[in-house]
Amino acid sequence: MAAAWVRLCALVLIGVSSGAALAKDKTPTAIVVGGGLAGLTAAYELQNRGWQVTLLEAKSGMGGRSGLATSEWIGNAKAQPVLNQYLDRFKLETLPAPEFVRTPGYLIDGEYFSATDLATKQPATAEALKRYEKTLDDLARSIDDPLNPQATSTLFALDQINVSTWLDKLQLPATARQLVNQQIRTRYDEPSRLSLLYFAQQNRVYRGVSDRDLRAARLPGGSPVLAQAFVKQLKTIKTSSPVTAIVQDKDGVTVKVGSVGYQADYLVMAVPLRALAKIQMTPGLDSKHLAALKGTNYGWRDQLMLKFKKPVWESRARMSGEIFSNAGLGMLWIEPALKGGANVVINLSGDNARLLQAFGDKQMVDQVLIRLHAFYPQARGAFTGYEVKRYSVDAGTGGAYLAYGPGQISKFWRLWERPVQRITFAGEHTDALYPGTLEGALRSGQRAASQAQDLLAGKSFDPAKAVPVAAAAAAGAAAAKESKGGFFSNMFGGSSDKAEKADAAPAKAESKPVDEAKQDKPGFFKRLFGGADKPEVKAEPIAKAEEVAPVVAPAPAPAPQAAPAPVVKEAAAKPAATKAAPAKPAPAHKPAHKPAETKKATAKSEPAKKPVANTQAKAG
Ligand SMILES: Cc1cc2nc3c(=O)[nH]c(=O)nc-3n(C[C@H](O)[C@H](O)[C@H](O)COP(=O)(O)OP(=O)(O)OC[C@H]3O[C@@H](n4cnc5c(N)ncnc54)[C@H](O)[C@@H]3O)c2cc1C
Repeated sequence: MAAAWVRLCALVLIGVSSGAALAKDKTPTAIVVGGGLAGLTAAYELQNRGWQVTLLEAKSGMGGRSGLATSEWIGNAKAQPVLNQYLDRFKLETLPAPEFVRTPGYLIDGEYFSATDLATKQPATAEALKRYEKTLDDLARSIDDPLNPQATSTLFALDQINVSTWLDKLQLPATARQLVNQQIRTRYDEPSRLSLLYFAQQNRVYRGVSDRDLRAARLPGGSPVLAQAFVKQLKTIKTSSPVTAIVQDKDGVTVKVGSVGYQADYLVMAVPLRALAKIQMTPGLDSKHLAALKGTNYGWRDQLMLKFKKPVWESRARMSGEIFSNAGLGMLWIEPALKGGANVVINLSGDNARLLQAFGDKQMVDQVLIRLHAFYPQARGAFTGYEVKRYSVDAGTGGAYLAYGPGQISKFWRLWERPVQRITFAGEHTDALYPGTLEGALRSGQRAASQAQDLLAGKSFDPAKAVPVAAAAAAGAAAAKESKGGFFSNMFGGSSDKAEKADAAPAKAESKPVDEAKQDKPGFFKRLFGGADKPEVKAEPIAKAEEVAPVVAPAPAPAPQAAPAPVVKEAAAKPAATKAAPAKPAPAHKPAHKPAETKKATAKSEPAKKPVANTQAKAG
């Protein structure tokens, strides 16, 4: 009897250990949904860890929201550490930024001012800008830990206020307010749509990072070049594969692209929130996630590239890097023209961009050209064509990038950093420190890949350990009531350090990514700005109509351009019918239905250069 028992135990043990060996040997599989930089990073990192990865991208080209610019300014390792690591890894060379790009310039009523010019020629504006920056820096400084920005009830209350209200209290002179409004709407969104806590938190993150760090180099070809470098590394990419449904069960995930199904152990979801909202999930997301899908604000920013035979702008203006403008041109910069001529990229943002959503591309270009022509009279004659990229109305994006509105940090802070069963989430919107940037997208891809690895290893992700939102909300509401006067006048009147420190809870700073040694002016990835403004008017979307369209009558249409838009190339399809050519034995999970053709974007394909389907071009 005893011998039989021992034999049975031995058999069980053999069974268990061989099962474990099997599980250990099995190549883990993952599907990554979304071929922007976040999804590409997650796929690359998982593949490097030995996973078999299939990346599904809705569009025909890869790279997602990579810019229209082919020569972006990027930060150095201090400002964008992860970005620089990947540039090094893929041996992508950057060119140092020229000096004039590294300091801001100003375009006031069409006239260019360097920072030095502004101080001497428009001292009131220069002073007001300084006052604004100092007040903002004080506000940013009041956040101990940017990963836990609503740590105190006082800070929490900031989430209930919009940035425009705060700016009103600063009583900046009109021109300064116009410049500030334009800066904020270009980096985030319309001040009236932005949570003051989010604004402060972002300025806290970039505290100690100077303008020089932020525009340190140029990446020839722009961020699409980085996307393409990832693409070259990945074994299995399927473009033109919009995911429509996802089913999770105890064994894995099944993903539907129309009638085709794919299965894997885990999934990285790397699409923007509006796109995620359109994917049917089984089991469904909980009410909090659904509310976040619906209610999280995205900034709006559309890009137009206007092409000219020759430069029509003041040569002294050196319009590159960052120019704050008070005139209705949006943020703009000169783009090197590869085939001769001269290009200028114009970013319309915030409510200026929202307002123009009803316009067709050509009408939108006309409106901008009218403004440009007012300052640069040769503009119309030298105009040869345009390209437009409208992130705001792109169904796959639903806006430019995350920009928390009032009350949204309180509700949704770091929600998407937690996996939901077998799904981990990536995308700029899931990064707490660098949302809305390449850095944030890359970081989120790394995190999502690590989390998939952790899930595989059996780790469970507990619900947020952070301050329960309901409790914090109650405290915040109470503080907001109590502190009318004291707290707000502190906030609006300048340094509020003392008041805030008094009730500051000990920060749970797990990581301090920001160099705090320098306390110079708040930095950010700064660019050029424009956009006429009415600072005194509370930023209501309707009111902005006046700002964006001072010239109502449509201008005569620019000369029609002959050549058609450069069309995104379909990633080259591999003939093989099977998915990710596995290095190891047959994958444990197979497509549920008929396998789709495996497509592998070739190194030569150019989709990343013009990745968005709604890019239109009329070449000159
Ligand atoms: C106008 C503009 C200017 C910017 N300027 C800068 C800058 O100067 N510096 C900086 O650091 N950052 C900048 N950014 C931000 C940066 O470009 C983004 O943060 C980053 O590209 C986002 O990458 P992502 O992977 O999170 O999202 P995305 O690039 O949007 O990738 C998501 C992908 O998912 C795909 N997708 C959507 N739905 C589905 C589906 N159902 N199935 C399959 N695939 C799907 C989409 O087609 C897309 O390819 C700018 C962004 C914009 C819009």
